[in-house]
Amino acid sequence: MEKYISTAGGRITCLRCTAKSTRSGNQCRKPALKTSRTNKCPTHGGRNKGPVTEAGKARSAASHIKTGLYTKVAIKERSQKLAELRQLADCLLVLKMTATVETRGRKPSGYEPLSTIKDVLMFALDRELNRAGGSGKGVPKNYFNQGMD
Ligand SMILES: [Zn+2]
Repeated sequence: MEKYISTAGGRITCLRCTAKSTRSGNQCRKPALKTSRTNKCPTHGGRNKGPVTEAGKARSAASHIKTGLYTKVAIKERSQKLAELRQLADCLLVLKMTATVETRGRKPSGYEPLSTIKDVLMFALDRELNRAGGSGKGVPKNYFNQGMD
């Protein structure tokens, strides 16, 4: 794949079109457009600027996602869940329900350490309120509020 081509009897050297023939496999011999994103000549789509409408841009972006594991949304969601898990581990430590020590390593973003019983109580209360469908079974919604005011 030649990157440059010389024209005008060797006086001008410029970028060569990167298109390849489907039949012969040879590279296009025309000079590429300066404005082309993909170094193509006008014949091979050098003027194409990609999707223009919002719908087209969204479609293009969606088609370029392979696994979706590292999108901003997925990363944030995972970080929140890890922070919650870590806080649950803190709960076990504070309530002395485990013999292990505090987990080492990087703390996930959004993690706030729970060190007192009150922290644990507020954490549990938060989880109870966030649960979908309210309190079907288990601890009633206002269980932790009793006797706190
Ligand atoms: Zn070409």
